[in-house]
Amino acid sequence: MPVSFTLSPEQEQLKKVARQFAEAHLRDLAAAVRDEPDPARRAALARPAFEKAVEAGFLKGLIPVPFGGAAGSGVDAAVLIEEWACHSPDFVISMAGPLIALVPVYQVGTPEQIERFVAPFLADGGAPVAAMAYSEPGGSANFDAPAPAEGTRTTAEPDGDHYVINGTKAWASHLPGWDGDGPDVMTIVCRAPGGVSLVVAEREHLAGHVDVEHLYDLPGLRGCLTAQVRLRDVRVPRANLLGAEGQGVELTRNAFVGSGASIGTFSVAAMRQAFDVAYRFATTERRGGAVPIISHQAVSDALADAKARIESTRLLSWRALDAALSGDPNALEWALHAKVLGSETAVEVITRLIQVVGVSAYDTAFPLQRHLDEALAYPVIEGSNIGVRRRQMQSLFTSAGYDPLAASGMS
Ligand SMILES: Cc1cc2nc3c(=O)[nH]c(=O)nc-3n(C[C@H](O)[C@H](O)[C@H](O)COP(=O)(O)OP(=O)(O)OC[C@H]3O[C@@H](n4cnc5c(N)ncnc54)[C@H](O)[C@@H]3O)c2cc1C
Repeated sequence: MPVSFTLSPEQEQLKKVARQFAEAHLRDLAAAVRDEPDPARRAALARPAFEKAVEAGFLKGLIPVPFGGAAGSGVDAAVLIEEWACHSPDFVISMAGPLIALVPVYQVGTPEQIERFVAPFLADGGAPVAAMAYSEPGGSANFDAPAPAEGTRTTAEPDGDHYVINGTKAWASHLPGWDGDGPDVMTIVCRAPGGVSLVVAEREHLAGHVDVEHLYDLPGLRGCLTAQVRLRDVRVPRANLLGAEGQGVELTRNAFVGSGASIGTFSVAAMRQAFDVAYRFATTERRGGAVPIISHQAVSDALADAKARIESTRLLSWRALDAALSGDPNALEWALHAKVLGSETAVEVITRLIQVVGVSAYDTAFPLQRHLDEALAYPVIEGSNIGVRRRQMQSLFTSAGYDPLAASGMS
């Protein structure tokens, strides 16, 4: 990224178009999702907006240009995610499955695999979905742990020129697909004879072999269709193995670099919305006193601290997404900082903004608590900060020749 912090005319246009789409389709969706108690019906509410986004070319915009899509730079992605996540982060997470599930395909897929697995997401219509099936209900932070630890429990048993996959997967958006027969593409982290591996199952392999055991009822991000599913005798051609058996640990870690960076931007969106509400309250409410509460130094200071942390998280996240999408060798470190610092900053900032507003904020009808519910997800999704992300940073620190100045280019 050239060191300029001014959006280009094209990025200004992207921001405008993204904001218009969000105001036209996502604001009402978010309200409908808040009112719908059933997790499955809630997730289905997103489908019309999803189809509109596909028609408008936004899904193709998630696929890198060399693979037939129209993805722009990391800063472009940050602008789009922020605008949409302000209204409905759940919608963005649901749509962004290919951002994780297809990364290993780009990295090691054969030309034939790339063409087959990417094709559904280049469509101009419909609502194609992808799932990165990494998480398992018994825990996944130690998915790479060798025996006698359980590590990854889902198995891929060779049977002639097929694998037969069995196991239980959890949490990933759209594991059941829209109709319970699975997504268009599911990248499955599983244990093959050669070790942890990635195998791609397509809908034709999944239909009739996905048992939906449980739908999670999330406190925030309520429109995400997150479920526990049993994969029962899913027969997938061995030609759908990505790379080699045993390569799955490295490929899985790489798959979550861009999405980890994006958590910084999701965090910014939640803070931005919460700040807007608290700032308006502080400049208009006197709470029985003589002046708007922003005239009290303590209130203004709390807002100033929040604003500084929002702006710094936004810049960090732009940098991290730029690094992730441009193939910067230090992308993992940038993604980790955006993920860990961004997510924990959002929880702290929104908690403080609730205190600025006071007791009125402690009401689900007041539009502030909902952003804390979103923010509370960010330290634990996309690899929890404690179980996965800080450990990755420790691995970087202890790797041979680690240079603390390399990521910034200041070495
Ligand atoms: C909306 C949403 C979307 C999601 N999307 C996806 C997706 O697309 N794909 C997917 O596969 N998953 C998805 N998830 C799940 C998510 O990525 C989790 O971060 C992932 O399952 C790992 O959780 P965890 O780190 O808490 O692991 P767990 O294994 O459950 O660990 C739990 C806790 O134990 C501790 N712990 C465990 N091991 C260690 C260790 N070695 N060192 C230190 N502490 C440890 C940590 O405190 C950790 O937080 C999603 C979840 C949600 C809510």
